[in-house]
Amino acid sequence: MGIIVQKFGGTSVGNVERIRNTVNRIIEEKEKGHDVVVVVSAMGKTTDQLVGLANELSAYPAKREMDMLLSTGEQVTISLVAMALIARGYDAVSYTGWQAGIITEPVHGNARITEIRTEKIKSRLAAGQIVIVAGFQGITPAGEIATLGRGGSDTTAVALAAALHADRCLIYTDVTGVFTSDPRYIPNARKLKAVSYDEMLELASLGAGVLHARAVEFAKNAAVPLIVCSSLEREEGTLIEEEVSVEKNLIVRGVAFEDGITRVTIFGLENGFRNLPDIFTTLAEHHIDVDIIIQNQTADHKTYLSFSIKDKDLKETADLLEAGKEALSIDHFETETGLAKVSIIGSGMVSNPGVAAKMFQVLADHGIAIKMISTSEIKVSTVVDAKEMVRAARCLHEAFELDAVEQNI
Ligand code: ADP
Ligand code: ASP
Ligand code: MG
Repeated sequence: MGIIVQKFGGTSVGNVERIRNTVNRIIEEKEKGHDVVVVVSAMGKTTDQLVGLANELSAYPAKREMDMLLSTGEQVTISLVAMALIARGYDAVSYTGWQAGIITEPVHGNARITEIRTEKIKSRLAAGQIVIVAGFQGITPAGEIATLGRGGSDTTAVALAAALHADRCLIYTDVTGVFTSDPRYIPNARKLKAVSYDEMLELASLGAGVLHARAVEFAKNAAVPLIVCSSLEREEGTLIEEEVSVEKNLIVRGVAFEDGITRVTIFGLENGFRNLPDIFTTLAEHHIDVDIIIQNQTADHKTYLSFSIKDKDLKETADLLEAGKEALSIDHFETETGLAKVSIIGSGMVSNPGVAAKMFQVLADHGIAIKMISTSEIKVSTVVDAKEMVRAARCLHEAFELDAVEQNI
């Protein structure tokens, strides 16, 4: 028997009763003869509460200190889970990110894992122990605690599964699998039996919070079979794998959405091209993720540029643009908050012209204005008013018949 990695999210470890249930799930796998590595998130809404505390004390909490604070949530859970296992007569040991050998790039708040030194975990597994690792955290080469971005425990789990050559990685959460859209908002959403890595990557990147996008990247690169399932209900979950042949022909597999989007528009750029690299290099140097980019020219050869960012990056972006007005040859800029992105995803789209047209038509029929658009081979994204986000997602879900049983074989 090989190694398996089990990851339990906040709800699955939200209270003592849930931790007991989680411990039962761990013991089941151990009893089957697997070497078991467990990754856990902070209990319930702990991370949100810690963010709230920080925001009460500082409008812009220092990023290093924020990581120091947020990493405590997972440390509580690992020790409780290990204690509970030991109380049941199993040999278990808990490790923080740095103890587990998880090295990240030198960034706070959204660090990428660059390396995992697995010797310690391997030796503990060889000694028959169940290893419990704190999700969402690692250590930079300079020895600083870094977190991986909200939802990052999934990435810890999959990165460990890849580094340990685990047989599979199981993500236990509060829904029974990956659905055609977020079941909390789209009541007709259906569970998908299987999804390809590429589709899942788009779904996750475009707002389907059920999986951290970087976790899917790790799984794809290392071909780790990934299963999303419920920690409470005994129902078959969703398998994320390379190619999903039965469903390859389906044009649209899911609708994803996220709010908290801001559009920044810069006016009066001379000639358009010379200062574009400077603007985006400046933003990249400050780790500001720019999403949709639109550049256009007016009749008098002035260029204007629009791009979307997350609301949380607005202050830093505005400060950078303001400070760099002269150096970047910016005339003036405007920002619009209160926006959301609604996307349709499906690998069948690539050979089906007219999918985008249908999406725009559906939104137009429902009186929903589109502010920005971006497309790839397997997705079409639109930026709309955040107030219209759920309505837009619902009408697209219906128009593309994602609630139809036969779509979800
Ligand atoms: P955990 O704490 O277990 O990591 P998350 O809250 O991060 O759980 O992820 C699970 C949530 O993801 C679900 O409760 C659901 O509302 C949301 N979600 C968003 N999109 C989807 C989707 N397409 N399928 C399933 N769940 C989704
Ligand atoms: N506790 C962290 C968060 O709430 C990481 C995670 O749960 O994946 O974002
Ligand atoms: Mg999560």
